[in-house]
Amino acid sequence: MAPEMTTLKGKAFDRASLESLMRRRMFYTPSFDIYGGVSGLYDYGPPGSALTNNIIDVWRKHFVLRENMLEVDCTMLTPHDVLKTSGHVDKFADWMCKDPKTGEIFRADHLVEEVLEARIKGDKEARGEKVEVEEEDPKKKKKKVKNIAVVKLDDAVRDEYKEVLNKIDNYNGEELGRLMKEYDIRNPANNSELTPPVAFNLMFQTSIGPSSNLPGYLRPETAQGQFLNFAKLLEFNQQQMPFASASIGKSFRNEISPRQGLLRVREFLMAEIEHFVDPSGGKKHPYFDEVKDVELELLNRDVQLSGKADVDTTTIGKAVETGLVDNETLGYFLARIQLFLLKIGVDPKKIRFRQHMANEMAHYAADCWDAELLTSYGWIECVGCADRSAYDLSVHMKKTGAPLVVREPRKEPLKIEEWQCDLDKKKFGPKFKKDGKTVEAAIESLSQDIREKLSLDLQKDGKITIDVPGVGDGKVEVPKELITIEKRTRVENVREYTPNVIEPSFGIGRIFYALCEHSYWTREQDEARGVLSFPPTVAPTKVLIVPLSSHGDFKPFVRKLTNKLQDAGVSNRVDDSGASIGKRYSRNDELGTPLGITIDFQSVKDNTFTLRDRDSTEQVRGSLDEIVAAISSLVEGREKWADISKRLPKFEGQEEGVGPS
Ligand code: AMP
Repeated sequence: MAPEMTTLKGKAFDRASLESLMRRRMFYTPSFDIYGGVSGLYDYGPPGSALTNNIIDVWRKHFVLRENMLEVDCTMLTPHDVLKTSGHVDKFADWMCKDPKTGEIFRADHLVEEVLEARIKGDKEARGEKVEVEEEDPKKKKKKVKNIAVVKLDDAVRDEYKEVLNKIDNYNGEELGRLMKEYDIRNPANNSELTPPVAFNLMFQTSIGPSSNLPGYLRPETAQGQFLNFAKLLEFNQQQMPFASASIGKSFRNEISPRQGLLRVREFLMAEIEHFVDPSGGKKHPYFDEVKDVELELLNRDVQLSGKADVDTTTIGKAVETGLVDNETLGYFLARIQLFLLKIGVDPKKIRFRQHMANEMAHYAADCWDAELLTSYGWIECVGCADRSAYDLSVHMKKTGAPLVVREPRKEPLKIEEWQCDLDKKKFGPKFKKDGKTVEAAIESLSQDIREKLSLDLQKDGKITIDVPGVGDGKVEVPKELITIEKRTRVENVREYTPNVIEPSFGIGRIFYALCEHSYWTREQDEARGVLSFPPTVAPTKVLIVPLSSHGDFKPFVRKLTNKLQDAGVSNRVDDSGASIGKRYSRNDELGTPLGITIDFQSVKDNTFTLRDRDSTEQVRGSLDEIVAAISSLVEGREKWADISKRLPKFEGQEEGVGPS
């Protein structure tokens, strides 16, 4: 079970207050609200859209620009055949069970998790231990444990529950069904028995065009568009390997029971990278040295399978060296993912990387790690990073015949000794007629060992017999007049291979929400109002301009400052309402606005302004140019507030309740 969440200031985190703030200030809101809403669908309001765009902006700079990735924007509507080939039609499913009496639907793994966690909480309560509680009403601060039967468990049973929870992602439908029976897990609302779990495909189906004979789906990930364009991207990249493509766009998943606000939704923004790498030579990465000393908290699969959740703090260099992380390229991206998350303001103490257990991982994947962020809902997967091997390119190539491969001239030609089969095509066609192509394909696919053996048969018997399923009785004789089998030396000047793919896949909405939880706190003197301490780079609005009053003398200065900030590309808002300065600032603390400029009577005299830091409420004073330069430097991440407060003189005064003279 996840540890209790605390705020930046070490106090217990209060989710209800943050969620109320986010609704009030329109970070996000249920879609179609006035029609009653649809679960799992949300609209983002002005601060939410700005925060998302700023996260994306940092992402683009951190990944796409830094590594010259090839960004593409592919269509979201995907024909059935593509997703059939990729395996999504058959396998992209979660386990669902139903209450036959009420028709209520549950996601089986989530239900097991919820019920066992509730029982452990009830047991803690029964033993008189401290329990995390749900608040009934955040205003009244009346605390009550919800839906939890306060029952003491056997020590062994409690340990077993914990073990199951630590490997909950590793169970298939049948195993979940067994757990539900063994632990008597029912509908928590009415205690009804539920149907055994069945697979439910998460894709939204549609049909493309009016004739409804081209079935399709809304894409469940942005990856497939990148794979299908591989040959063109390689060409665009002048055949240079390795390279990466990237894509930012919406994906759609028909989640069984969306809950936890933005964390599990049915339409969400994804940012995905497909890094194509030569599988020979251990999947090295040219810049691995730059990140090898980055320390990560790693929760490996063996620890989870033993029912535990202890993490190891290790440098990525060490993790790759010991083989815990499969290869350098995967390790490089794990470190770069962490650096990105820290850059946008995620709390370093609330990040860990969890390795997928064998059953959880797609069968083709070589290794897979999730960057998980700690939230009040527990550890949540926010970025998946998988080594997808050559799977996707291979299956699409097999299906379409398109050459999704790399062809590289060899430095030294390769001489290969091999058994070659030559067919006399003139005689071969008339003998096998309509089966000619099938027999030819069967001969072509013969392994070297079999060819060697068949060459002896040919000498001895004057014919060979091969297996050709679907032709006659499945055995075909080919006489020596039609075929020769000889050992020859072939010279290969070109090397052909299918690249492997390392895929970091970011769910922007989950990162957005976790970042809000990590950034949220309240001031001692004003517990009712929250502060969102976003770094200036990602904050929705960077600067609040606060004239002391609506006095006409201040107006030209407001205009001058707004123009200057806009020229520097810095988003700002003016608050010239009659409220006290302190109140105006604290309203903007809730929006996470990191900086404030006050225009006072001194400004009118000498063109200087105060600049206020949201987190420390410290103020400095400087000329227009000094203030704007400091702001630009903070917003671009070149300096921190501590640097500015050393550079510019401190200003004490006029924070709280200072009105016009
Ligand atoms: P996956 O392809 O399942 O590894 O998902 C990649 C990323 O997409 C995850 O790390 C999440 O951040 C995000 N994600 C997946 N499903 C959802 C969902 N239903 N709602 C929001 N984000 C999601």
